[in-house]
Amino acid sequence: MKRPKHNRRTSWIDITFSIAIITLTVAAILLIVGTTKQQTTPTPEKGVKSAMAPPTIETIDSNYPGIKIIIQTSNDTYSPYTIQYPQSIHTAFNEEIVTYIDGAREDYLIAMEGKEEKGSRLAGELNISFETLVHHSGNYSFILVNGTYMGGANGTTEIRSFQLNPETGGIFGIQDVLGNNLKHLEQLSKMVREKIYNDTTLAGYVFPEEVKIQTEPNWQNFSNFAITNDSLIFYFEEHAFTAGAVGPPIIAIPIDEVDGLLVDEFKMDPEQRVEKQQPEKTAVEEAGPPGAIDVSDKSGNGTASKETTGGEDVDGEAATTPAKRIALTFDDGPDPKVTTQILDTLDKYDAKATFFMLGSRVEYYPEITKRIFDAGHELGNHTWNHPDLTKLSAEKVNKEITRTSGIIEKVTGKKATVFRPPYGAVNAVVRAQTDLPVILWEVDTLDWKHRNADKILEKVKGMAEDGSVVLMHDIHQSTADGLEAVLLYLKGEGYIFVTVSELE
Ligand code: ZN
Repeated sequence: MKRPKHNRRTSWIDITFSIAIITLTVAAILLIVGTTKQQTTPTPEKGVKSAMAPPTIETIDSNYPGIKIIIQTSNDTYSPYTIQYPQSIHTAFNEEIVTYIDGAREDYLIAMEGKEEKGSRLAGELNISFETLVHHSGNYSFILVNGTYMGGANGTTEIRSFQLNPETGGIFGIQDVLGNNLKHLEQLSKMVREKIYNDTTLAGYVFPEEVKIQTEPNWQNFSNFAITNDSLIFYFEEHAFTAGAVGPPIIAIPIDEVDGLLVDEFKMDPEQRVEKQQPEKTAVEEAGPPGAIDVSDKSGNGTASKETTGGEDVDGEAATTPAKRIALTFDDGPDPKVTTQILDTLDKYDAKATFFMLGSRVEYYPEITKRIFDAGHELGNHTWNHPDLTKLSAEKVNKEITRTSGIIEKVTGKKATVFRPPYGAVNAVVRAQTDLPVILWEVDTLDWKHRNADKILEKVKGMAEDGSVVLMHDIHQSTADGLEAVLLYLKGEGYIFVTVSELE
């Protein structure tokens, strides 16, 4: 919770970022000019103007000293994107990230343009988000998740990690973590291989011959990694050694198992060794694919079994007064890391919530969607691509909603029961396109804006009442991190956590 002060750096950061913003703005203008020129086929539907809306670029502070978040957004109706990435005061690191981001965005825009020229009208989507993992040594791992959907049948998900020592500006690799020791690399390779074979979420999806190749002891195979106080985590390419259904495999090795292979800087915190008796599930752990449900201890009727266990975190407050009820809602997911963490936290407090999901993300992450359903939460429809529906034709609104309900039902076997329009933007045309109850909110945590785990509780404290609907987003790490404090507080205030439909 402690955060080092960073006033000393503020002016440098501001200067660096002012320059960055100017550069990016110029780049964006050039991009618009360039793209507009090449748009030989203006959108025919309304015949008013080009579908190209100018992209926006925003810079906000992160919770981590010395790190800012750049957000690039294009609401273009055909090739929209939302890109978030970190920048620091260190040029080499910044350039490495920007090179990746520019490449990903260009690839997407060029591919979409090619499709448009061939007459395709199916909108695409590019979402790049990231999370920051911190190691006790002060080193950061940034995990960028790139979800690209080209308007065809399937989207692709790519995970890229970037490492930074924020003090020195140094970028470190897995070689540095293992001290360039080839013996250690060989041992690591064996451990990773074993984890892959024993990973229940991958069971039945693994191609052993490919695993051998992808985990051969060379540095390149293990270059996409992160180190936290709990685990050494490796990210592999989607399809590299698994069937596509499972997405990019994420293999986490508990830190105590690899501690002997690490150089001093990255070894376990001595304090942690004492504390760490019973390692908890790591947040990157994902729910099993459809075929592996029976091995999961958290599927199905969690509620009934929970009550009989009487765990120490359920402090049985006698219900002498009628409980106040509150409906927590999570929009814009699912997200493999953040939603999983949120589900774990909700589960711990036996809290039910409502997830307003984007159809495009349900398609990327069917196993997470399934897990939301299995845990007994309510399934909400939040459109396919997150457009402002009040700006679309009735026909397009209808498509956004029905396509999303379709994928939710396909993945979970259950229909979405509530609908929330993106941005809360709704009018009569939009309402006419669905029979689902349109749900807005009373308490806006503004979690998407401040990205500060502590501020979520602050907002809730000021506004929560019996019967409130609380708006949060399960795509921001800070939201997942701040949730437990919110649950603890509300529980202390006598609230029970219900779905929006249970609220009536
Ligand atoms: Zn939303």
